[in-house]
Amino acid sequence: MTVASFHPPSRMLMGPGPSDIHSRVLQSLGRPIIGHLDPEFILMMDEIKGLLQYAFQTTNQMTLPISAPGSAGMEACFVNLVEPGDTIIVCVNGVFGGRMVENVERCGATAIKVEDEWGSPIDLNKLEDALKANPDAKAVAFVHAETSTGVQSDASAIAQLARDYEALTIMDAVTSLGGTPVLVDEWQIDACYSGTQKCLSCVPGISPITFSDKALEVIRTRNHKVQSWFLDMNLIMGYWSSEGSTRSYHHTAPVNTLYALHESLVMLKEEGLENAWKRHQRNHQALKAGLSALGLELIVDEAHRLPQLNAVKIPEGVDEALVRRRMLSDFGIEIGAGLGALAGKVWRIGLMGQSSSPRHVTLALAALEGVLTDLGVSIKDGDAAGAAQKVLLA
Ligand SMILES: *Cc1c(COP(=O)(O)O)cnc(C)c1O
Repeated sequence: MTVASFHPPSRMLMGPGPSDIHSRVLQSLGRPIIGHLDPEFILMMDEIKGLLQYAFQTTNQMTLPISAPGSAGMEACFVNLVEPGDTIIVCVNGVFGGRMVENVERCGATAIKVEDEWGSPIDLNKLEDALKANPDAKAVAFVHAETSTGVQSDASAIAQLARDYEALTIMDAVTSLGGTPVLVDEWQIDACYSGTQKCLSCVPGISPITFSDKALEVIRTRNHKVQSWFLDMNLIMGYWSSEGSTRSYHHTAPVNTLYALHESLVMLKEEGLENAWKRHQRNHQALKAGLSALGLELIVDEAHRLPQLNAVKIPEGVDEALVRRRMLSDFGIEIGAGLGALAGKVWRIGLMGQSSSPRHVTLALAALEGVLTDLGVSIKDGDAAGAAQKVLLA
């Protein structure tokens, strides 16, 4: 067998992540490696922390990137804040809420599930009932932006309820960060994690995370050691948080990946968070107009819709997997399949980070219209790309 270099094909990534990456970020990966305790590297680490504070809109000192994907950020929140015997209320309205339950149970704690239908936001009344029924609940955990359904829940109201009942909040902002407002300080979220490959448009494999002072106090005064050595924030603080010369080795930071994170955060700062949120909203409106010209509908009510993740109802009788395969093979465009309860029922079209652009919206709509027409699917008005242009140029 001959083994050759791998050359990936040209793609437009419009699924649930990873999203497309700007050449500035890709090029930063090829810069020379330096030691992860090099004084110059440590200066860059401090800049990353400051830029992440900006992205999360927080002054939390404990704001840093975990050297592993979003799932590790989720796990870091649970293993640090949850101890055996604790009760944690977990809101479940999609795949990722379900994973939170798994995390709680693996910490030896009890998960009280507050369940809502897939495609609906978290119901505040149900959450309040659960808080009343479980006065000892230590925390409320929820997913801000459910990537499996395209729903955004009211994080501010959820956090307020949790505070009313003296519970901490743990929030998944993997898909929201950089795409829609994530206001950690204003909403008083105690622990929040994200990922780099969604609206930050960086390479996968890093999880930005932030803890409030209240959460840090809970971590410092635990009765049991954190069960995960790698994710123990007490140890990670020694590398990321102490003063320059006293930083101690914990694990080898992914040096070049952090160059990429730094560059993607610099780009976010240059654009400005508010502008990034507006861009995601505008491209979503254009996509929606184009889908509607094809007679396609989004499954989520307008009030709770995520602009960066569009769950599109699959018309009767359409071979949804074939459509995705043709989008990929004929046009190099990746769109996502439905997950869990929505498998086979929706396509998930991501407009995240660099993939939220007029180019992506227009080309994806033209390609989708072409594929559906070729497969003999009846479409409503047609000229989906034209309908999108009307919104983009308005
Ligand atoms: C993608 C995602 C995750 C997991 O992130 P990975 O980087 O794939 O581990 C967690 N939560 C939500 C809401 C996500 O969309």
